[in-house]
Amino acid sequence: MDLLKKRILEDGRVEEGNILKVDNFLNHQLDIELLNEIGKEFAKLFADLGITRILTIEASGIAIASLTALQMKVPVVFAKKTQSRNLDKDTWDAEVFSFTKDTTYNVRVSKRYMNSNDKVLIVDDFLANGQACVGLKKIVENAGAELVGVGIVIEKSFQKGASILEDAEVNLKSLARLASIHDGEIEFAD
Ligand code: 5GP
Repeated sequence: MDLLKKRILEDGRVEEGNILKVDNFLNHQLDIELLNEIGKEFAKLFADLGITRILTIEASGIAIASLTALQMKVPVVFAKKTQSRNLDKDTWDAEVFSFTKDTTYNVRVSKRYMNSNDKVLIVDDFLANGQACVGLKKIVENAGAELVGVGIVIEKSFQKGASILEDAEVNLKSLARLASIHDGEIEFAD
């Protein structure tokens, strides 16, 4: 997606530990016009698959999932990272190791919002080592639902997440694929 690649080159900043900072359009301030184009692109890439719900993880996935859902006319469910009184007791759970926070946490989705009739599209901002997506995939499987695809805004192809999902025969589509981000320089994979 050329518009996204252009924006990454203009506004992305490479930080220590292979982290790409894109917080002026994706991770803190949100460029809704760009996210709307991202939503349209995902809707095109995953058209006609009978998707019934979009699943993401709080917080950065929510805006992307919402604008995709607006095109697909299905609900968004986001996995919660903390237990709260607002959350039903009966949940599908999975453990996720966070690449950026260097910690493991439990993510949860109420059983009310995912079941065996669902065809699920997972959407997230980044794919790095694949932990977030593997955790979400586990929630879909535990619910007996069908995972029909994973849509990623920025895939760091030099980390192992993409190959983990491809080995598991997941229908993975990434809008920008980074081959490397060495020495402050971003190189795209295609
Ligand atoms: P994974 O679980 O695939 O290792 O990492 C994915 C999650 O880590 C994403 O949801 C994202 O929040 C965060 N993440 C991983 N790499 C980066 C990065 O380079 N930049 C930013 N901003 N977030 C990242």
